[in-house]
Parts: sequence; C-alpha cells; structure tokens
Amino acid sequence: MSSKEVDLFVIGGGSGGVRAARIAAQHGAKVMMAEEYRMGGTCVIRGCVPKKLFVHAGRYAHDLEDMAGFGWQVSGAEFDWLTLVANKDKEIARLEAIYRANAEKAGVEIVAARAVVAGPNAVRIPSTGEEIRARYILVATGAKPALGPDIPGRELAITSNEAFHLKRFPERVLVQGAGYIAVEFAGLFRALGAETHLVFRGDQILRGFDDDVRAHLAAEMAKAGIHLRPGATLAKIEAIHGGKAVTLSDGSKVEVEEVMLAIGRSPNTDGLGLQAAGVTLDKVGAVEVDAASRTSVPSIYAVGDVTNRVNLTPVAIREGHAFADTIFGGTPWSVDHSGIASAVFSEPEIGTVGLTEAGARTACPKVDIYKTTFRPLKATLSGRDTRVLMKLVVDATDDRVVGCHIVGEGASEMIQLAAVAIGMGARKADFDRTVAVHPTAAEELVTLR
Ligand code: FAD
Ligand code: NDP
Repeated sequence: MSSKEVDLFVIGGGSGGVRAARIAAQHGAKVMMAEEYRMGGTCVIRGCVPKKLFVHAGRYAHDLEDMAGFGWQVSGAEFDWLTLVANKDKEIARLEAIYRANAEKAGVEIVAARAVVAGPNAVRIPSTGEEIRARYILVATGAKPALGPDIPGRELAITSNEAFHLKRFPERVLVQGAGYIAVEFAGLFRALGAETHLVFRGDQILRGFDDDVRAHLAAEMAKAGIHLRPGATLAKIEAIHGGKAVTLSDGSKVEVEEVMLAIGRSPNTDGLGLQAAGVTLDKVGAVEVDAASRTSVPSIYAVGDVTNRVNLTPVAIREGHAFADTIFGGTPWSVDHSGIASAVFSEPEIGTVGLTEAGARTACPKVDIYKTTFRPLKATLSGRDTRVLMKLVVDATDDRVVGCHIVGEGASEMIQLAAVAIGMGARKADFDRTVAVHPTAAEELVTLR
C-alpha cells in the first residue's frame, strides 16, 4: 500500500479535470489525476470534436448539391464512412496525446485507472488497491448517456458513444430525443444520406430554446427530409434481418438499421464513494456544489458535467480553472453561469445567447421583439430551400438586448460575438448605430427595425 501524499487529486481527465490539474500544478501544487478511459474526456474523445468533424462531413454533401447553380459539375463523388471514421480517430488520438503531454509538462502525474473517493482526504485506485492522501480532491468525472426506461430490446440501441465507431453507415436510422445530441445527429445522419426518423416525447424539439427557433429548425429539418415524430416514445426494439424493428408508443412500426438513444446524460457518480465520504448528491445523482464548486465536504470540490450546472465544455474548463486559481493560485474567482452562449450543430445550425422571448416576458415588464427570416444569398443560386432566422429580444424599459437567437449557416460563429456585446450590456441602439458588413447574413443583426 502506498502512502503517497498530494496537494490535489483530480478524478477524471476531461475538459474540467485537465484544466484544473494543469493550472494547479503551474501554481506549484503536487497533482495526481486519474483517467479510466482516454485523456481528453467526452468532448475530445466522443463529444464536441468528433461530432463537429461528422457535421463537416455532412456539409460537404450539401456543398456538392449546391455547387451546380454556381457552374460546378462534379461527377463521381462518393462518400466513404470508414474513411471518415478512421481519419476522425487519427485526429482524436493526436488530440488525446496533446492533452496528456500538456498535463505531464505541467508536472501532473497521470494514473491510467479508475479512482474512487475513500474519504474526505483519500482516493483509492481499485485496480491496484493503492490509496493516496490528498489535501484536496476534485471530482471531474463527467456524465454518461442516459438509457431511459428498460423497454424490451433496449440493448439493441446505440448511444452517441457508439455512433462514433459504427462499422457501417446506417442507411436508415431512428434517433430518440429532441435535445442537442438528438437534433445534431439526426441532422448529420440525414446530410450524409440516411433515411432519418426523429422520435420525441414532446410536441416540439429543443425544449428550453426560443419558440421561434424551435419551430424554425423543425421546419428546416422536415424540409431536409427528416421524419419528425412528436408525441412518441419507444415501446419495443426487435432484431430483424439487416436491422431493427421499432414499435413506437402510438403502435406504429419503423424498420431501421440503427436506433440511437439521445435522451439526456446522467452524472458519473455511481460507485464513486461520494456519499460515504459525506458529499451530498441531488436527485439525479449530480454533485451539489456552491459558487466556488465546493461540495458539502470542505476538502472535496467538483466541476463540469458531474455537477449538472451548464453542461458545456467551455464551462467545465472555466470551472476547473477558477477552482485551481482559487485554491492554489491565491486569486479567488468564480464562474458566472449567466448569459452563456451556445450553438447546436444541427442542419442548419443554431446560435443562442441570453433570454428567450418567453423568458424575457417573465423577467422584464416590457419586451420588444425584432425578428426576420430571409433566404440567404447563397441559396438564390444553389436553389436550396432554406431560410435564416434572426431574433433580438430587448428589455424595452432600458433598451438592453437580453437575448439573441439565430438559425442558419454561420450561426455558431456569429453568436460568439453577439455574446460579447450582450455581455457588455449593449442596447438595441448600439446594434442600430453599428454599420453593417455587407453582404453577410450577420448584417441583419444591425439592421433589424
Ligand atoms: P468529461 O469531459 O466527460 O470528462 C470526465 C472524464 O472522467 C472522462 O474522461 C471519464 O472517462 C473520466 N472518469 C469518469 N469516472 C472516472 C473515475 N471514477 N476514475 C477515473 N476517471 C473517470 N459541449 C460543447 O460545449 N460543445 C459541443 O459541441 C458539445 N458537443 C457534445 C456532443 C456530444 C455527443 C456529447 C456527449 C457532449 C457534447 N458536449 C458539447 C458536452 C461536453 O462534452 C461536456 O460538457 C464536457 O465534456 C464536460 O467536461 P467534464 O470535464 O465535466 O467531463
Ligand atoms: P438534452 O438534455 O439536451 O436533451 C434530452 C432530450 O431527451 C430531451 O429532448 C428530453 O425530452 C429527452 N428525454 C429525456 N428523458 C427521456 C425519456 N425518458 N424518454 C424520452 N425522451 C427523454 O440532452 P442531450 O443528451 O441531447 O445532451 C446532453 C447535454 O450535452 C446537453 O444538454 C448539452 O448541455 C450538452 N451538449 C452540448 C452540445 C453543444 O453545445 N452543441 C452538443 C451535445 C450535447 P424533454 O424535452 O421532453 O424533456
């Protein structure tokens, strides 16, 4: 049994854990970090990065269709799924090595194993039995795909984890869910040519997003040929020759090659020893923390998806950084979880920041809405049947822009800068006096009247 002692033991080598470990080590702390799967965590290995590479692959299919109107004739274009998967794997391996090297360069000792909490100041490595004493423990174990109710044949379904490694591109696919992952995967499967069914229990996709955004994207998805099946859940999945037969709660049947569950994610706290150490979990099993990411045990902190605050990579990274600066750098700060912009890499994509129209109507006494939909210039020659939506939500009492919502090509890039302006308290008048950049889609944001 080792009697090793460290200043910080980080459990989980993902977005939040790696940042915290690296910064703490740079502040002079002795740091150990355990990762049971692959360094980089969900975002790098089976989340944001491979997903966005797949989204790019789908967009080439659109480009090929759009080219003809611009005079290009391309013949013989073929898509090979296995080439995409192999090239993606190569890039992910490269990024994984960079994550490892950066942590090690900072002086972090990496343990390639599962770790569990053995007490307020103790971590155990079950595979070796080793126990490490730690002045602080940071839980950064992320989350895993939720599997939902135990319906017959559920084991035949995949989640986003497996979708990145399919041996064959599914020509027909059913995705369950209507959140970020479901609409992103439905969009990319469809763009790559699959017959795609999106089955969701609500009456509209993307609960929590602005209602105009939800309706606009649903209409665009339907135009792209995605079969939207609202108000339904999965009742049964059966193996049939060449695929799966899915029975929906309304009794209808769909035959596909793959069924993908994208119905949320559960914090990775099972068997982690947290409750025995005195750490309070909430009703979904997430670690409860204060604004400084401290748990109910003063020596144990938690960041990222395991805390189920805002489950995005840049947020996990920032929480990890704030923790390390606060505890080891002598410069305490905490993360402001309000006004965080995000993008949904659907087809077309969404960029969103701030309040929805419905949220603003609850929060502000008087609200002004400015919105437009238009056909993007590129579509005039490509002939693609698509429209862009742009919407500004303004608090009419002081003219401040409190929300911005965009659906269309480039929305993820535009929203980052809109978030800067809105974060600085920009008023609608500030948008209005900004001279447009022409011809762009973004110029609509400064010409909305
Ligand atoms: P993770 O990155 O999940 O890292 C946790 C790590 O802990 C994992 O590597 C895990 O193996 C390890 N671990 C767990 N338990 C133990 C243990 N007991 N011992 C040792 N190691 C352990 N966010 C965005 O901002 N933009 C996107 O476009 C985006 N796309 C996504 C697409 C998909 C398909 C998914 C699933 C997520 C996406 N996200 C996206 C969310 C983003 O990936 C997460 O918010 C982010 O990875 C959270 O970081 P984390 O450090 O909390 O956890
Ligand atoms: P979300 O929370 O975004 O969506 C979950 C979806 O599953 C909802 O449509 C929900 O329906 C549905 N659902 C939940 N439980 C059930 C059930 N038992 N039966 C049927 N449907 C169910 O989760 P995701 O898994 O899509 O993504 C997890 C998180 O990861 C996101 O919230 C986001 O924070 C992050 N992420 C970010 C991305 C980005 O930044 N681009 C991309 C991918 C993930 P209902 O609305 O009715 O509750």
